[in-house]
Amino acid sequence: MTETAMYRLNPDISLANVRICSRCIYDERVPSITFDSEGVCNYCRQVESLSAQYATGKLNGKNRLKKIIDEIRFEGRKKRYDCVIGVSGGTDSSYLIHWAVEQGLRPLAVHYDNTWNTAIATQNIRKVLFSTGVDLYTHVVNNKEIDDIFRSFFFAGVAEIEASTDLGYAYTLRRVAAKYGISAILEGHSFIEEGITPLGRNYFDGKYIQSIHRLFGEQQLRTYPLMTFSRFLKSAIIDKPKFIRPLWYLNYSKEEAQLLLNQRYGWQYYGGHHLENRMTAFYHSIYMPEKFGGDLRNNTLAARVRNGSMDRATAWAEYNSPPIVERQLLDYFLKRLNISPSEYSLVMSEPPRDWSEFPTYKRRFERFRLLFKLLAKADLVPMSFYLKYCFPSK
Ligand SMILES: [Zn+2]
Repeated sequence: MTETAMYRLNPDISLANVRICSRCIYDERVPSITFDSEGVCNYCRQVESLSAQYATGKLNGKNRLKKIIDEIRFEGRKKRYDCVIGVSGGTDSSYLIHWAVEQGLRPLAVHYDNTWNTAIATQNIRKVLFSTGVDLYTHVVNNKEIDDIFRSFFFAGVAEIEASTDLGYAYTLRRVAAKYGISAILEGHSFIEEGITPLGRNYFDGKYIQSIHRLFGEQQLRTYPLMTFSRFLKSAIIDKPKFIRPLWYLNYSKEEAQLLLNQRYGWQYYGGHHLENRMTAFYHSIYMPEKFGGDLRNNTLAARVRNGSMDRATAWAEYNSPPIVERQLLDYFLKRLNISPSEYSLVMSEPPRDWSEFPTYKRRFERFRLLFKLLAKADLVPMSFYLKYCFPSK
């Protein structure tokens, strides 16, 4: 599940008067931010404490990861595959495949194809898997059906236009793990390179996707892997795949990973974080900034300042310059979803609507808080799910 945060930039604050963390570039507009006596933000402190907890990049961390790898290999010793890795063609998931094979793991790569991939992403997946000899399982959703879901979210005027992809991915990984009896799902997240996204207002679940689609969509959902509450529980309690983030133990560098992937596999960079998919690109570079006044680039930029791969002034300048937008992106979006320019302008100028206005599982997640706490502690549901979704939001 991708963790995204949403917030509105306050246009009344001039940049000169914005309070910025003395270490990274998070400023006072980031949700739930606090600054300590040294002017360091709570997100920098959180990364510090995670680094200590996971012994990131230290011998102790490597030893613990080695133990986890041994367990995965032991659990999967009689199976064709011992772990599942979701692949997008992006840096982290491609690197994770390379890393897993080097560790002697036997991963099954899984791709949830929402049919909005760029050609470069598809080629990257093919190149890395071909050279490493890793098998690929792809779930392709029907393009008319998925476009109907995207269109529904756009006309609903809510921020979570990418919800179906994040949830569809998560459920596909769970389903494939169950199908092949695989007990570990490896995730390519790195808090050193991407940080921990702020607790924002963004929200999604299976009920939310269903309700938005029922209100604004037309097609029947037949191929979309919808994670309903009961399917989620069945996976977490009966199938029980564990979610593991190996990069949390390692001194991971995106730049070094890209260099290695390029030299070894002919993998290519697609020019920006999360831009390997056209809908993701639309969400980050057009939809969020223009309708919601939100800019998510500071997550990665702040993380790069913290880990020393970028200086603070350069990162702050980049954050305050407009995002680079592929010229044909908006045309592609409108044409593919059959939205007229006037419909587009109308929706973009209407006030944003909030997920809490629509039916979701939120209350149910709160009622089952104790169960989800136990599941999160056992790595059977993401800890971020428990912390963000199982408590009242206001
Ligand atoms: Zn900070």
